[in-house]
Amino acid sequence: MNQRMYELGSKRSVIRELFEFGKQRAREVGAENVYDFSLGNPSVNPPQVVEDTLISLLQTENPTELHGYTSAQGDYSVRKAIADYIHAAHGVPSDPDYIYMTCGAAASLTITLSAICNAGDEVITFRPYFTEYKVFAETAGAKLTALPSDPETFQIDIDVLEKAIGERTAAVLINSPNNPSGVVYGEETIQKLAELLREKSRAFKKTIYLVTDEPYRELVYGTVKVPYLTKYYRDTVVCYSYSKSLSLPGERIGYIFVNPSADRAKELYLSVCGAGRALGYVCAPSLFQKLIARCQGISSDISVYEGNRDLLAGALREYGFECVQPDGAFYLFVKAPEKDADAFCERAKKYNLLLVSGDGFGCEGYVRIAYCVSRDMIRRSLPAFRKLAEECGL
Ligand code: PLP
Repeated sequence: MNQRMYELGSKRSVIRELFEFGKQRAREVGAENVYDFSLGNPSVNPPQVVEDTLISLLQTENPTELHGYTSAQGDYSVRKAIADYIHAAHGVPSDPDYIYMTCGAAASLTITLSAICNAGDEVITFRPYFTEYKVFAETAGAKLTALPSDPETFQIDIDVLEKAIGERTAAVLINSPNNPSGVVYGEETIQKLAELLREKSRAFKKTIYLVTDEPYRELVYGTVKVPYLTKYYRDTVVCYSYSKSLSLPGERIGYIFVNPSADRAKELYLSVCGAGRALGYVCAPSLFQKLIARCQGISSDISVYEGNRDLLAGALREYGFECVQPDGAFYLFVKAPEKDADAFCERAKKYNLLLVSGDGFGCEGYVRIAYCVSRDMIRRSLPAFRKLAEECGL
């Protein structure tokens, strides 16, 4: 057996353990008294158009074609619909021949990093970061370096990045809106990042790619805008997924978009096709490819998440907890009132509050609270949070 795979398969995940604990507590105290904030599973139904389109596809399309193989990189008409949407929505050049359909953002990232990296390369990201990045980078033969963000805002610290980029840096990987901080990187940050990557690419006489992980692009609140990165940095690869925007995480559908203006863009796209082939990620689910082609520009009702955020963040601040304002995604990243976030999560369990320690996201002393849950559960959980705050002396 391959030792690395064995270890990946046998390590118990914190979230899995919480899930088991939650089930056990539900049997003891009743499901309505357990407040599970651990999972990033959308709590809003997919928009009605998803169901209508699925029914229409099933009723009108030739079943052999509908459920059959598409080309390895995805059906051409689907890629064309996505390319047209990217161009119309963001005003950037796009092209169906630079889009590769995938089984969600996890596949998009694993393929992209494998396409870019050679053994011994480095991928840089920022803390806190989605736990699986380390696995994706290592599968690509690279090492993940996670840099601290600005501790007040969780924005990228350009000075720290400036010092960290080296000869073996193949890519910088960012995620905005961010899981777990909820932070969105503003235009000024992106401009500085792009300028630095251009400067470092020149200095090291190579292309340093910007890989952007965007499953939460549409989940932003108020007037906040998420800059479209190919506009700012030529050598960008966008890793997208419909898991959160259309509430379809179990259907496994997303795409990779290689900027057609990137340096040696055709070779980069062919490397993406090669990595998809090598990893067995060819021909993303056919029915859902055809579905999303007809749902471009549509998202689930994100106002529900915004209401959840306002209710929960407002109450937690009132009880004395501290967190940065999340402008997007559906997570609050809350400062643990004690140094050891794992100990704080254990304390929270006494009140049947299931929270995830920030240690797994590379950021000690914080906990993640996923507010993609029912409004009712948030309301019922507030007395438990208040008692927890009191126990911690807030
Ligand atoms: N990237 C981030 C930041 C995520 O939060 C997730 C899932 O929660 C993924 C990637 C994986 O997304 P998908 O389910 O589309 O593979």
